[in-house]
Parts: sequence; C-alpha cells; structure tokens
Amino acid sequence: MSHSAQGFIPVAPDLIEELQAIVGYDQVITTEAEVETLSKDCYWYSPVLKNRLEGRRASAAVKVGSVTELKGVLAFAYGNDLPVTLRGGATGNYGQCIPLCGGLVIDITGLDRITSIEAGVATVEPGVRVINLERAARAQGWEMRCLPSTWVKSTVSGFISGGSAGIGSITWGGLREPGTIKRLTLLTLESAPREIVLEEAETLKAFHAYGTNGVIVELQLRLAPARRWDQLVITGREWAAVTAFATRVAYDDSIPKRLASLLEPSFGESFRPLRKWLPEGHAFIWLEVDQGCAAAVVAEARAKGLNVPLVIPHSDPKRQPMLMEYGWNHSTLWMLKSHPNHTYLQLGMGANFAEQAARLKARFPGQIHLHFEFVRGRAPSGEFGLVIPVLIPVVKFVDEDHLRGVIAFARELGIASNNPHTCYLEGTPDDRVFASQLALKHTADPKGLLNPGKLKGGAINSFIAQNFPEFLYA
Ligand SMILES: Cc1cc2nc3c(=O)[nH]c(=O)nc-3n(C[C@H](O)[C@H](O)[C@H](O)COP(=O)(O)OP(=O)(O)OC[C@H]3O[C@@H](n4cnc5c(N)ncnc54)[C@H](O)[C@@H]3O)c2cc1C
Repeated sequence: MSHSAQGFIPVAPDLIEELQAIVGYDQVITTEAEVETLSKDCYWYSPVLKNRLEGRRASAAVKVGSVTELKGVLAFAYGNDLPVTLRGGATGNYGQCIPLCGGLVIDITGLDRITSIEAGVATVEPGVRVINLERAARAQGWEMRCLPSTWVKSTVSGFISGGSAGIGSITWGGLREPGTIKRLTLLTLESAPREIVLEEAETLKAFHAYGTNGVIVELQLRLAPARRWDQLVITGREWAAVTAFATRVAYDDSIPKRLASLLEPSFGESFRPLRKWLPEGHAFIWLEVDQGCAAAVVAEARAKGLNVPLVIPHSDPKRQPMLMEYGWNHSTLWMLKSHPNHTYLQLGMGANFAEQAARLKARFPGQIHLHFEFVRGRAPSGEFGLVIPVLIPVVKFVDEDHLRGVIAFARELGIASNNPHTCYLEGTPDDRVFASQLALKHTADPKGLLNPGKLKGGAINSFIAQNFPEFLYA
C-alpha cells in the first residue's frame, strides 16, 4: 500500500473501474470538489476540529443503492486495503464521518426503506431519514422515543452511530437507555462480509461507535405511543423566575413532555424567525407538552408573572416554527451565525445547576451564554429516572488553552464534561462498554480499516499503527 503526497490512501484508477462495475458508473464520485464535500460533516462547529480536520478527505466516494452493493464495496475495500468511512446525513459535529486517512467514503442514504412498523417496533434500513421514520410512525399511532434536532437531514444509522440524545430524552433518556435500540444488524469488513446481529443490551457494542466496528445495515427501534404535542414559548425578564418555572415543569412527571429547553436572553436576537415573540431582555423556555396539559401549564406560567407569547397547537405533520429546531444543538447553530469566534460545550450539571452555571459565568464574564436541555438519566445509584439539566453553552473561543481552562473550571465545580472538540472515541480503563466496542472491532474489522483512527484502541487499530502512527497519539 502506498500513500499519496498528502499522506492519504489513494484509490488507483483501475480500482475505480472495479468499483463502477459493482455500483454503476454514476455512483462512484472522484471529482475533487464533490469528494471534498462528501468527506465533510458539521465538524466546523468546533474551531479546534476545523483546524485539525480541514485537510482530511477521502480519495473517492461511493453511493450504494442496495445491501448487495454495499457488501460488494466492503469486500472490495478489504481486498484492496482501503479505509472505509460511512456517511449518512453528515450532520455529526465531531468530525465523525471525516476520513482521516483517505480511502473510500460510502454514502448509505440510498438504503432508505422502512421495512415495517409493527407493535411499537420500527425495522428500517440505515439510510432512512429520521423525519421520514417519525412521520411514518405517527401515521400508525407511534412516534420515536428520541430524535435529534437535525431530524430533517439525519439518517437513523447516523443518529445511532454518532448521536446521543434529543427531543424525547426528557421522558425516555438518551439512546443508550436499555430498550430503545432493540436490534442492530451489522456487516463486517472482510473478504466475504458477514452479518453480526446484536440484540438489546448487546447493541451498546455498536452504539455511538462512529462506524468503526461494523456497518449497520438494519435497525430495530422501539417506539412510543404517539401523543399530540403543543409547543409553548414562555418568557420572563427575571432569569431566576424563568429558571424556577422551567425546572418545575421539567421535574414534574405528571406533565408528559418531549422538550424542555431554557435559554438566556442573549440567544433571542439570533433566533430570527422567532424574534417577534421574544421580548428583548427576556429569558425563555421552549416546551413541547401533551395537549391535555398545555392549558394548565400556560395558566400557571401566567399566574407566576411570566409571558406566554406563543402557543403552537399540535399538527400532523408539524409545521414551522418548530421549537425543536431552536433547541439542542440548533440553538448553537443559530448563535454561531451571529456570533463568530464562538463555539460550544456539553456539560452535565448537578441538581444545583443554576448556582454552578452562575459561577461559571462569573469566572468568564461575557463569554458564556447559557442554554439548558432537561433530560432523564441515571442517579449515581444507577437507577433510571433522574432529571438532569444538560448545559450546552455557547462559549467565546479564544484558543484551545482557554477552552481547556473553561472545561477544567467546570470540572472543579463538579460539572461533567463531554468534550465536543475531539473526533476520537476513547474509554476509561474500567469502561466495559468501550472494551466491548474494541472487542467487536477485532471481530468485525480485522484489518482496522473502518473509520481508522477514530477508536483509540492502541494495538488493535492495526491499519493506523502501520500507516499513520501519529494518529495513535494525537
Ligand atoms: C445543528 C445540529 C443539531 C444537532 N442536534 C443533535 C441532537 O439533538 N441530538 C444528537 O444526538 N445529535 C445532534 N447533532 C449531531 C448529529 O446531528 C446527530 O448525531 C445525527 O443524528 C447524525 O446523523 P447523520 O445521519 O447526519 O450521521 P453522520 O454525520 O452522517 O454520521 C455520524 C456517524 O455515524 C457513522 N455512520 C453513519 N451510518 C452508519 C452505518 N450505517 N453504520 C455504521 N456507522 C454509520 C458515520 O461514519 C459517522 O461516524 C446535531 C448536529 C447539528 C449540526
């Protein structure tokens, strides 16, 4: 195997012809500009990753239209020692689907069949867009337990392989909670790709693995009975009062809800389509609550002196504006458009989250904009059900050291940090899930060609060790 001048694994011209024979002439992309586009995701969310990954791209991209074609491409890649990076909607913001070492990008969006929705379980191909699954489920009286705010572009396998939580997590928790992912079927990267079927808790081996330890070709997800969700915008001038109300609703299990977001006034200017409902200087809450409870929540907010400038009654399909597209990482997206030189963090807060956040702001004055999402997670005892405020602050980007300083100070305050400025997956020495992900990689990817470099598994990542040792220590 030889590297190109840029240090990538190239795909030789005669190999391109072989690929065309597998998937068809038009499904193999080699023009530089197109390959560049198909090699990138939303990594630019992080100035750190933007800097590190900008020059990285595949040598060619392939669009597959059937599992048979996919198997053919995987066998071809194995036979020719080509790295393989899978691509869904490319909305991942950790550079998950940016190839570090060239080779092939395989676009799986052509595998977009919803096989069945039966008894609360959806069986789908990997490239189904989340919005299409949600709509198909709702048509049959079900809805997804959890979906990302990028539901329009994201694919189901991209969400499972690259995402973690979203709309619905206030009730069902993150994707890793037992039961939500029922079954995953993966293909190995071998001369004759085999199927590996993971059921229930075993699916964690391939969950959030960035396509490093198998290629998902079928998913079974458990659904929830569909509800009619009213969307409410609640605002107030007093941060403490708005925070108290958001907390009250978030922690009240008698109010079925899908979204509970709390944002500081500084976000208001950036949410252009919503601006007319967001009085200047007001903090605000997005809620999606069951229609049966909406009137009571509105009345209680008003009784507490808060404003309710917008109530959007449920409709199927959902129409604009959709508050979910101003929550989760979409809030960050809107802010980044109007706040250059800013970025974001992902912080797991304690029950004293308001105090923790105030101390963080005081330590970095004018540099932190607060945005909380309330999700259901696990108590230290392991029991599921605790409501946890997750802080997704927009943070002024000074340089990497400064960002590390913000994270270090947050940790001093007892805040957990999930660093979004790295494209690497790595566990702790006693992390059993991570160990099982590495073990699956051994079995499913003997040459270490699947998204090489992303799963930091030392010696097991043989391809990286032989060809790009610098990534083992990056
Ligand atoms: C504005 C914005 C908002 C966001 N909001 C959320 C949110 O609410 N919740 C959340 O969790 N994330 C969120 N994200 C991150 C991202 O949108 C999700 O992770 C998303 O669901 C990824 O889906 P995708 O199809 O775009 O995946 P991609 O970006 O295409 O891929 C993600 C990873 O999955 C791998 N992959 C894709 N298909 C397969 C397959 N068949 N087999 C194995 N591996 C595969 C890829 O190689 C890559 O490593 C947000 C991102 C942005 C930019």
